[in-house]
Amino acid sequence: MDIFPWRPIVHYGLHFAAPLLLAFLFFRKERRWTAYFVMIATMLIDLDHLLADPVYDPDRMSIGFHPLHSYVAIAVYAVLCLLPYEKLHWPWWLRAVGIGLVFHILTDWQDYALWGVG
Ligand SMILES: [Zn+2]
Repeated sequence: MDIFPWRPIVHYGLHFAAPLLLAFLFFRKERRWTAYFVMIATMLIDLDHLLADPVYDPDRMSIGFHPLHSYVAIAVYAVLCLLPYEKLHWPWWLRAVGIGLVFHILTDWQDYALWGVG
């Protein structure tokens, strides 16, 4: 039995550290910190867990269960990553919202799929 809490460390590492890496990879210098905090803010989609009973269940796959983790929602997040914001004259940080949300979903997925149940 492994008593070291790797699963939450990886989970929160991905939630907090990975957006930093993404901000440095995908955004120009003067936008990086804004992009980072926008991506951190996308964790607010976990508020949809408050609609579930129990609110948190480590053995439940959040993807496809909670409304903001539904497949339709994920499709919208993917589109947000790909829109041509410059041409549309929409704010650039919407792409950070999309990247943050897609990465959030990947983090939740690996938490359930790679770490096993029970
Ligand atoms: Zn989530």
